Amino acid sequence: MKGSAVIDRRSFVGGTLGALVAPVLAAPAVAQARPRVVVIGGGAGGATAAKYLVAAGAELDVTLIEANRSYVTPFTSNQFLGGLKPYETLVYGYDNLIGRGVRPIFAPVAAIERSDRQVRLADGTRVPYDRLIVSPGIDFRWADVPGYSEEAAERMPHAWRGGDQLLLLKRQLDALEDGAVVVIVAPPNPYRCPPAPYERASMMAHALTTRGVKGARIVILDAKDHFAMQPLFEDAWERHYPGMIEWQDPKMHGGIKAVDPKAMTVTTDLETHKAALVNVIPPQVAGALGRAAGLTDETGFCPVDAGTMTASVDPNIHVIGDAAIGGDFPKSGFAANNEAKNTAMVIRHMLLGARLLPVRFTNHCWSVIAPADAIKNGARYEPRDGKIVMLDPYTSQRDETPELREKQAKEAIGWYRGMTTDIFG
Ligand SMILES: Cc1cc2nc3c(=O)[nH]c(=O)nc-3n(C[C@H](O)[C@H](O)[C@H](O)COP(=O)(O)OP(=O)(O)OC[C@H]3O[C@@H](n4cnc5c(N)ncnc54)[C@H](O)[C@@H]3O)c2cc1C
Repeated sequence: MKGSAVIDRRSFVGGTLGALVAPVLAAPAVAQARPRVVVIGGGAGGATAAKYLVAAGAELDVTLIEANRSYVTPFTSNQFLGGLKPYETLVYGYDNLIGRGVRPIFAPVAAIERSDRQVRLADGTRVPYDRLIVSPGIDFRWADVPGYSEEAAERMPHAWRGGDQLLLLKRQLDALEDGAVVVIVAPPNPYRCPPAPYERASMMAHALTTRGVKGARIVILDAKDHFAMQPLFEDAWERHYPGMIEWQDPKMHGGIKAVDPKAMTVTTDLETHKAALVNVIPPQVAGALGRAAGLTDETGFCPVDAGTMTASVDPNIHVIGDAAIGGDFPKSGFAANNEAKNTAMVIRHMLLGARLLPVRFTNHCWSVIAPADAIKNGARYEPRDGKIVMLDPYTSQRDETPELREKQAKEAIGWYRGMTTDIFG
């Protein structure tokens, strides 16, 4: 089904779809055999989108452009740090997607040439598109932490995007000795996976405890005055790792004045910490490509229409995953996967007249504090007036039984298996 069938169904997406459909169909759907959809970024959002674009048939020409040949899931990387899973279990390739009909290009994208509807690769090759999905993940506001930089991250890793940084952080963690001080610099909102810095502190404490390291301390210097599921984390820290993890809000530490990767110090308004390991998780923005393509606003992220994930500044581009902003979007792999599936549906509707269901999604996030003690929170989401709205949020309770916490830890393992199969299977 092509052409006018699309127009008939346009009222489904809050009235915005109609305005977008006409310019898209005018040239490409008529002029060539298969409309071309290009996806940039083969992570939780982009890989899911590519898979679901080809899943229902071969009517679309789908190209996935990803800088690397394999992807390391940031989700559950804390469990790797904690010694609960090997690194290899975090690594995924793209063979299954290729087998399903996705055309891969493994190269960094240098630019999106929006006026010509084409993507320019680092080697100068141009890849034209009828619709483009951008899922480049996050980048950092490096300079917002005085003294921090990409170079400094080689001594004080952020490990917030998987890969070599994660391996470096694990090596540093495994080398810590009795009495070691660990400092985690936690970012301001909005950032990728709100509970993850605190899950990371838990998993570091677990690794140190398991290895029998004595007298180690983990100091979290936070940019926020509270964090996700704080009472639950603090309660569990006292039970599993008494006296080991100390959290300071900005009122207490007074702000990070400097980090010095050579001296391995972090100076706040209150004191200077001499640390054996410093994990700086800097303030975040959309992946660099989003900014270079002019898709971002003053927040540093890419505003979108929540019903279609269409970029506010360009009706031919959809932005999904952590790079997108527009209401209560959670920055999680779970959400990126959901947004990708909705976007694939919207694009198949726009280009092929395929069935369009109401856009809805959920997000559930498990945080593993100890091997048999996991907490979770979540909500469902739907678009209203172009923004995503959070509905029915829930969170674990402090008085949960050990059995329930253990069940949730098993759920977290099952979720990861299901999610990675859905993305890469
Ligand atoms: C420690 C930690 C724990 C987490 N735990 C959870 C959890 O329990 N549950 C959960 O749901 N989420 C979790 N997350 C969050 C989750 O990892 C992210 O929200 C998710 O990966 C976002 O998907 P994305 O597609 O936006 O970005 P990514 O998954 O980062 O993918 C972006 C991809 O784009 C590619 N790319 C970027 N720029 C270019 C370019 N110019 N050219 C070509 N390719 C490019 C990158 O190489 C990358 O592969 C966690 C994150 C961290 C850091």
